[in-house]
Amino acid sequence: MDQNRMDFDIGADKLREECGVFGMYDFDGNDVARAIYYGLFALQHRGQESCGIAVSDTEGPKGRVAAHKGMGLCNEVFTPEALESLKGNIGVGHVRYSTAGSSTRENAQPLVLNYVKGTLGLAHNGNLVNAPELRHELEYTGAIFQTTIDSEVIAYHIARARIHTPNVESAVAAAMKKLKGAYSLVIMSPRKLIGARDPMGFKPLCIGKRDNAYILASETCALETIGAEFVRDVEPGEIVTITADGISSDKEMCLADPSGEARCIFEYIYFARPDSVFDGVSVYKARIQAGRFLAVDSPVEADLVVGVPESGNAAALGYAMESGIPYGTAFVKNSYVGRTFIKPKQSSRESAVRIKLNVLKEAVAGKRVIMIDDSIVRGTTSALIVKMLRDAGAREVHVRISAPPFLHPCYFGTDIPSEDQLIAHGRTVDEVREIIGADTLSFLRQERLSQMASERPVCTACFTGNYPMEPPSQDIRGSYEK
Ligand code: SF4
Repeated sequence: MDQNRMDFDIGADKLREECGVFGMYDFDGNDVARAIYYGLFALQHRGQESCGIAVSDTEGPKGRVAAHKGMGLCNEVFTPEALESLKGNIGVGHVRYSTAGSSTRENAQPLVLNYVKGTLGLAHNGNLVNAPELRHELEYTGAIFQTTIDSEVIAYHIARARIHTPNVESAVAAAMKKLKGAYSLVIMSPRKLIGARDPMGFKPLCIGKRDNAYILASETCALETIGAEFVRDVEPGEIVTITADGISSDKEMCLADPSGEARCIFEYIYFARPDSVFDGVSVYKARIQAGRFLAVDSPVEADLVVGVPESGNAAALGYAMESGIPYGTAFVKNSYVGRTFIKPKQSSRESAVRIKLNVLKEAVAGKRVIMIDDSIVRGTTSALIVKMLRDAGAREVHVRISAPPFLHPCYFGTDIPSEDQLIAHGRTVDEVREIIGADTLSFLRQERLSQMASERPVCTACFTGNYPMEPPSQDIRGSYEK
């Protein structure tokens, strides 16, 4: 990433989700590109590096696909003319942040693949742990890859399986038997829209309906944005096939024992929008609950509870409700800092964090403040925000984090830096407290994580090191470029 550019989140000290996916099939024949565009807008928090839409006409010539993709945010990549040129009543869209595969236009999705049986459009959220093996297998049989992303490995395996299967959904099922890792997929074939989720259900995927059209989306917030109603989640391991005849479901890959599922808990803590509901659990309520747990487990006397916007706010509210300490606003965020914002030089007096975030002196001066944030990654931003609160006159700053300390890498699609860059790795909580300059510091207890997700089976590997499947023997993230 261009070092002069600034990350979309506060400071460079936040984790990034890899992708958001969206698909739509309108049985009345209306164009879907515009609705997909607005759906991607609602999913923009899941990826800001590139985006794209591919559409087709189910009544038109089989395999004719119009696609537009590029680097940047949805409003940078899609002009009214570009959207207008995307004619078709079935389509898939994608927003991306790269963890596997570099940030280039070739790696932008959806992928469109022409093969002997027609055309596939595919958008993928997640990372495979066996992508290098699958890729080598294909390369040894002559496949030539256009991209460095593991989504292309999935597309090739589906295309290859399609030659020996009666229909595209059976080809998806055959490919899924080989895939290991995290994947939520939306796939467009000439006459079908298909959604699939890996058997552990790492990443979300839901089904919506608007008039005579069906939608697949990473998050329910995207359904609301386009005025669609939520139908249900795609279950972990399920393949749904949407045609003019309705929705059919294949659950052969679903785990016999659902306790082996492993939803990414960080979707609830930070990634997903608070107005989304993931597998029946409201993200907003999960965050409120995390704040309540912090208040019970790590109480402290104080005058004010504040959240670091945006994702710390709901947990701060939960802490305030449980503790009875007033909830307040301490930070004013500049919402207009975009991806292309020019980062201040290290030597300059301006700070990237201060440009995004100012402290309301009137709210915190003379007060004992509890500051709630969703995570500490490298610790640099936390240290700066604590200092900003003190500079504004806060008498004490007590930091509460609505996640346990990050200690381990993620191989399923989250860009967690290497262990040596994680502030909590190899340090005690008190040592971390000292570095960020807080009076007290507490993290959410590990045993609270599944409670936060209403006891749904969750992945907590980045906190606990208990991987729900064998992790790769080496760090494979971005391995195709090495
Ligand atoms: S390791 Fe962490 S970030 Fe990765 S899927 Fe599991 S909970 Fe999510």
